[in-house]
Amino acid sequence: MASNTERNVVVELRDLKKYFPVKSQTLIGGMGDTVKANDGVSFKIYEGETFGLVGESGCGKTTLGRTIIRLEKPTGGQILFDGHDITRMSNRNLRPLRTDMQIIFQDPYGSLDPKQTVGQIIGEGLLAHKMFKKGPELEEYILDIMDKCGLDDYMIHRYPHQFSGGQRQRIGIARSLALDPKFVVCDEAVSALDVSIQSQILNLLKRLKDEENLTYLFISHDLSVVKHISDRIGVMYLGEMVELGGAEALYNDPLHPYTKALLSAVPTTDVQRKGEKIILKGDIPSNVHPPSGCRFHTRCPLATEKCRQEVPIWEEAKPGRFVACHHYEQTKEMG
Ligand code: SF4
Repeated sequence: MASNTERNVVVELRDLKKYFPVKSQTLIGGMGDTVKANDGVSFKIYEGETFGLVGESGCGKTTLGRTIIRLEKPTGGQILFDGHDITRMSNRNLRPLRTDMQIIFQDPYGSLDPKQTVGQIIGEGLLAHKMFKKGPELEEYILDIMDKCGLDDYMIHRYPHQFSGGQRQRIGIARSLALDPKFVVCDEAVSALDVSIQSQILNLLKRLKDEENLTYLFISHDLSVVKHISDRIGVMYLGEMVELGGAEALYNDPLHPYTKALLSAVPTTDVQRKGEKIILKGDIPSNVHPPSGCRFHTRCPLATEKCRQEVPIWEEAKPGRFVACHHYEQTKEMG
């Protein structure tokens, strides 16, 4: 494989921030407060790779996926997509790039119009972007995409409610791929499915990635699923990236205490990795008023006074391995 410096960059984030205003006086914030869903995130996604993004619910990973493809407007920082600075691009200028960036949602049923047939669902974007006119050529193209996604021809006239969860996710995937994208955000794309169906859909996504030369951002709270499909993995906590590295390396030798704790909760048959589950104390703090210093210090078994006061820098601890932790050398000794 080419080194990272030689590979084409599809997405580059520079200090990306996405804040949401807190509208009224609530238990978590007062007037004028903001929820810091993403707070200074920087990384690159290379052409042809699957970049896994993992973290607990509420860590900001879904917002990050939506902001990268400009379904949300960023508050600060920069987003480069395929060489274009799309950070503040108007919807009109974004339109030609829209087909290149697609998203597959967690809830295939909720994201499919129940009044449309499978053919209409898959064809809608093709017509809207004037890639086809109605007619036999469009139908032939839709049948071809359906075939690639494991859907039989006769299904083209059926409605979403006539399908199982796994089949509905195949329809969602076919709808995204029909537009021939370069980059697809898979947002908890298999989380709602039974385990046996999950592996079928993961295998389908893998096959399509190779056949169609796709690049994925694969978002999940489930580290075992992310590891199965990803080339590199980023770990998020309270709106920040805390660790990034190759999937295998990160899984076998986590540098950040939070990554280590997440991994300890993943069931494994690997005797070398078997160990005590690390129970994190306390709840996830509010991302309206995140903790001082390292945001993880309120739950970290390795936390020291320095952690409470100083924000850890994002550094390359080993080649290709990035971490934000004052004491990452001690993570091995945890648990
Ligand atoms: Fe834990 Fe300190 Fe590292 Fe934060 S900086 S993860 S509190 S050891």
